[in-house]
Amino acid sequence: MLPAGDRAFMEKMTQFGDMPTDDFRRYGYEIVDRLADYFERIEEFPVLSQIQPDDVKKALPTSAPEFGEAFSAVLDDVDNIILPAVTHWNHPNFHGLFSTSTSSVGVFAEMFAAAFDMKAMLWRTAPASTELEDVVLDWLRQMTGLPDIFEGIIYDTASVSTMHAIAAARERADPNSRKSGLAGRADAPRMRVYVSEHVHSSIDKSVITLGLGLESLRKIETNERFEMRAEKLAEAIEEDIAAGILPICVIPTIGTTSTTSIDPVAAVADICEKHGIWMHVDAAYSSSAAILPELQPLFDGWERADSIVMNPHKWFFTPFDLSVLYCRDLDDLKKAFSLVPEYLRTDDAASVKNGMDYGIQLGRRFRSLKLWFVMRYFGRAGLIVRIREHCRLARLFASWVNESPNWEVAAPVPFALVCFRAKAADTDTANSLNEEIMRIVNSSGKAYISHTKLDGKITLRLSVGSVHVEERHIEKVWRLLEAAFEQAAK
Ligand SMILES: *Cc1c(COP(=O)(O)O)cnc(C)c1O
Repeated sequence: MLPAGDRAFMEKMTQFGDMPTDDFRRYGYEIVDRLADYFERIEEFPVLSQIQPDDVKKALPTSAPEFGEAFSAVLDDVDNIILPAVTHWNHPNFHGLFSTSTSSVGVFAEMFAAAFDMKAMLWRTAPASTELEDVVLDWLRQMTGLPDIFEGIIYDTASVSTMHAIAAARERADPNSRKSGLAGRADAPRMRVYVSEHVHSSIDKSVITLGLGLESLRKIETNERFEMRAEKLAEAIEEDIAAGILPICVIPTIGTTSTTSIDPVAAVADICEKHGIWMHVDAAYSSSAAILPELQPLFDGWERADSIVMNPHKWFFTPFDLSVLYCRDLDDLKKAFSLVPEYLRTDDAASVKNGMDYGIQLGRRFRSLKLWFVMRYFGRAGLIVRIREHCRLARLFASWVNESPNWEVAAPVPFALVCFRAKAADTDTANSLNEEIMRIVNSSGKAYISHTKLDGKITLRLSVGSVHVEERHIEKVWRLLEAAFEQAAK
C-alpha cells in the first residue's frame, strides 16, 4: 500500500492533460534561473566531461517509471546525472573540432519553437515557419554577399544539405534515376563526384546513401597549402568522360575541416561550366566569415555555384541544428524530391512554398526562428565584430606559435582555426610528443583542443569561435600548451 500522500500525488499524475500552467510557470522561471547560472559559471566546469563510459546508464533505472514523478526530482537528476556528463561546447576554452556555441537568444528561440511545435511540411501547416525561413535566408544571403538568384532551404546539418545537393545534381545528370534507380539498370553509367583529399567525410556518406557508391567519389590531389589542384581536377574529368563515366558534381570546399584550406572555386567553376557539371560549394564552416568585407575575396567564385551549404549552427551563435542549402534554382531540388500524396494535396500548392517539396523530410522544425533572433539581437555589425575578433585571436595565437622555438604553424590561417605542432627531431618523436601534449591539455579539463594528420604529421588544431571567448582564454590555452610541452618533452 502506498502512503496516503503518495496516493493523492499518483492520482493527480494519472489524470488527463499536461502539466498545469501554474506549475509550468514556476518550473519555467526556475529553469531560466538554472540556465543563467550555468552560463555565469561555465568556466568552472571541465570542458570535456570527465565521466567514464556507462556512468550515465548505470545511474538511471532500466525502465521508465510507472507513475509520473515530481518534476523537481527530474531537475535534480539533470544537476546530478546529466550535467557531469556534459561536454561544454559553450565553454570559451572549447577549441576542438570547430568551436561552436549558442547565444542566449538562440535558447529562447528553441523554447518558442518547441512550444509551437509546428511541422513545416505545407505552408498551411506552418505559415510562420515557412515565411520566416524565406525572410531570414534572404537576409543571410545578403549578409554573405551572394547574388539574389540564390534561394535557400533549411535542413538539420551540412551532411544532409550536401546529400540533397548531390541528389539534385544526379537528377539533372540522369533524370531516369528518380524512377528507375541505379541498381540493375543496363543504361546507368558509373557516375562521379569530385572532391579534394581534404573533403569532409559527410560527402563519402552521401554517395553511400545515394547508391552511387564510394567508388564514385574521386578525391583530387591538393597542393602544399591543402587546396584542390584545379589542373588535376580537369585531367580527372577528361579521363573519366573518355572512359564513359558520367561526372555529376564537383564539390570544392571553402574552409576544409582539417585546416580550413580554400579550394580554387573560380577555377573549379570554369571547369564545371565547360562540362555542364553541377558545382556545390561546401562552406559549412567558413560562410559566417563571408559577412566580413575584408574576407569576401576568399569566397571568390562561389556566386557561380549551383548550390552552397552554410552552417549557422557552426560559427553564427545559433544553437544546433541549422544548416542552409542555397540553390541557384530551387526547382532542381523540387524535381528531385517533390511527391505529393493525396492527403497532402492542397489547392494553394501553386501559389505557396511547401517545405516538404524540397527534400526527404516531411515535417520540418521551426528552425528559422533562432536565426532570426540571432540576427536581430546582434545585428549585422554585432556579428561582424565578433567574427572579426575570432579571426584576430586566431592570428594572435598563430603569432605566438611562430615566435616560439618549440612550435610551428602547420597551415595558413585564413579564418579562425590554427593548425600547429610542437617541434621535435623527427616525425615519430614529434607525433608522440604532440599526442602527449594534447592528452595533458584535454585531461586537465581546462581547455579542449583536437588534432588532425597533415602529411603524416600529427597536428594540433585550435579553433576560436565561441560567443564567450576573449583574449584571456587564448592566453590561458597558450600557457597550458607551453606547460604541457615542458612536461611532455622531459
Ligand atoms: C562541419 C562540416 C561539415 C558537417 O557539418 P554537419 O552540420 O555536422 O553535418 C561538412 N563540411 C564542412 C566543411 C564542415 O566544416
